[in-house]
Amino acid sequence: MALSVENVSYKYETGTAMEVEALHDVSTYIPDGQFIGLIGHTGSGKSTFVQLLNGLLTPSSGRILYNGTDIASEGFSKKMLRSKVGLVFQYPEHQLFEETLIRDVSFGPRNLGLSEDEISERARNALTMVGLPEHTWEKSPFDLSGGQKRRAAIAGVIAMEPDLLILDEPTAGLDPKGRDEILDMVAGMHADKHISVLLVSHSMDDVARYVQRIMVMDKAGLVFDDTPRKVFSHYSELSDMGLFVPQVTYLMHILKERGIDAKTDVMTVQECTEELMKRFGADGGVIKQL
Ligand code: ADP
Ligand code: MG
Repeated sequence: MALSVENVSYKYETGTAMEVEALHDVSTYIPDGQFIGLIGHTGSGKSTFVQLLNGLLTPSSGRILYNGTDIASEGFSKKMLRSKVGLVFQYPEHQLFEETLIRDVSFGPRNLGLSEDEISERARNALTMVGLPEHTWEKSPFDLSGGQKRRAAIAGVIAMEPDLLILDEPTAGLDPKGRDEILDMVAGMHADKHISVLLVSHSMDDVARYVQRIMVMDKAGLVFDDTPRKVFSHYSELSDMGLFVPQVTYLMHILKERGIDAKTDVMTVQECTEELMKRFGADGGVIKQL
């Protein structure tokens, strides 16, 4: 699986007084197997971008290639694309609608025209993968907790066995525990199933722990697309965009600005502690020096 995005722009309400250019001249490449974070402030174009990737929206200009074929070309199967590039919308639990959880998760595979055995196997595997125990499968999706509903909706997309799983703000509205559980589960799927993941978030802290690459969108443009360490080195431009690097990264930059020769590309509390201990020992010398 590979997606090439070539100079893609997208406008809503084209030709009306309400016209908005939600995406402007975006180019990037999404290969197999990566875990990518897509970060940006509300309104920067993230949801528009991911809907273009699975063919729900069509570029106003530019093109998107799936394994080398333009997804807007005649005869290209959008249905196939949507099963291979699985998109979990923001607040996906609003799209649960079947009487039982297992039927809801079976909906996608059934639409693919698979056999009953295959449908059942995929639904069971997907529910197990997202950590929903068997005693919940015959329940109404509406009787599940908030976190369970979110998992159920993710299972519905996983059951299509996509090559690329896109999650649009999967932790929105969850408490910190629910957020960590969902992110750990997604990281586990990436590691175990070698599935590519594009995780949309407006929190750097959320993605920094997991991803190998970060794309940053601002005002309809893709402004950074690199490893987390490289992206975080632009911490002051990021804060101008209302995006904040992990607090430990910020701390190390402040120390550097105050003339302390510390490594700035740290991303976790662990790395930060190690770096400070290395420079100053365990006696708190850094505080005295400040
Ligand atoms: P994000 O997901 O980063 O919050 P969106 O892609 O939802 O950003 O929105 C990008 C821009 O497009 C915003 O200015 C938003 O108001 C506008 N927009 C999004 N959806 C629509 C729509 N259905 N009709 C008109 N404008 C829209
Ligand atoms: Mg959005």
